[in-house]
Amino acid sequence: MKTVGLYLHIPFCVRKCLYCDFASWSGRENYMAPYADRAEKEIRRKSRRDIRLGSVFIGGGTPSVFPLPLMERLLKAIGESFDFAPGWEGTMEMNPGTVTPEGLALLRSHGFSRISMGMQCAQDALLKKLGRIHCFRDVEKGAALIREAGFDNFNLDLMLGLPGQRIADVEESIRLAVGLKCTHLSCYGLIVEEGTPLEARVSSGEWVLPEVEEEREMYDRALVLTAQAGFRQYEISNFALPGRECRHNLHVWRRGEYIGVGCAAAGFMDGVRYQNPLSLSDYLKGVPAREEAIGPREAMFESVMLGLRLNEGLSDSAFYLRHGAHLEDVYGKRWTRALKNGLLSWDGACLRLTRRGMDVQNSVLVDLMEDE
Ligand code: SF4
Repeated sequence: MKTVGLYLHIPFCVRKCLYCDFASWSGRENYMAPYADRAEKEIRRKSRRDIRLGSVFIGGGTPSVFPLPLMERLLKAIGESFDFAPGWEGTMEMNPGTVTPEGLALLRSHGFSRISMGMQCAQDALLKKLGRIHCFRDVEKGAALIREAGFDNFNLDLMLGLPGQRIADVEESIRLAVGLKCTHLSCYGLIVEEGTPLEARVSSGEWVLPEVEEEREMYDRALVLTAQAGFRQYEISNFALPGRECRHNLHVWRRGEYIGVGCAAAGFMDGVRYQNPLSLSDYLKGVPAREEAIGPREAMFESVMLGLRLNEGLSDSAFYLRHGAHLEDVYGKRWTRALKNGLLSWDGACLRLTRRGMDVQNSVLVDLMEDE
């Protein structure tokens, strides 16, 4: 029996952050009940007894604004539709200011063991500028509630490269996050997405982003400070105390299969990648997912693309097991330049990005992709 993950997307937020282009909406509370109906149907339709869930990840949006009776229905539907692997890991994303003891208790009662909270940074002025609904005090309160509810495993998301952010702000944010006793830190660089209010302010010159070198230094400081606090980097942007890596994301990066439920949710099962409709109304109308069968060459490239995000890299033995070919035979000619430039390392058994390679991951992948 194979072990897969399940991702459930809850696309509702209190307010839209100025940089966000995720499938998430505010002011659509009247869609929440129909959404629960549709998602419950989808969960039950995807029920299979030949698989078991090794992880469930409820993300968004802001799942913690979804009314508890509706969330309970979905949790119940998941529990009734699937078997679970021993030691499965259930994670839910929450935003500071929306964490409640009742919500946490509900998750505990359904076997969830991990919370991921969007802290982003510790400076209230920056949080306000980004349109976040919370201040740092809310992060502290949320972390206290999470710990009191018995969750000893929780992540804090941080952002680097914010307009007006200084290196000292990043250092302070990491120190304060570690002080809240989180077990996992995600440090993502800000991406200026097309069509967002952030993009308009940056392109008009109203907001100025840190220089590339400065953002790189922020990342370097994150590497040093997390390591000093006992966190181990296991993915380009992710750091965990020993044994506290996010199992769902690790499974996805190792090209494991997962079921996607909800508006815009992606899934990968039986060699087919799919994505549910990006629009809420299409999802509610039952418009089917877009599906794409992944061919053998593409599957190999996915393994490389995902595996190179991980510090463990991509082992030739895992690659051979999945694809019946050796890494060197498929990519040996194409990786020469990246090896020569010190962006990739290959020891005959495992392919990894070097620290410099992590900064230019996309250009390494373009080299490997040539002629794909
Ligand atoms: S809370 Fe997250 S999903 Fe919601 S608007 Fe902000 S960044 Fe987007």
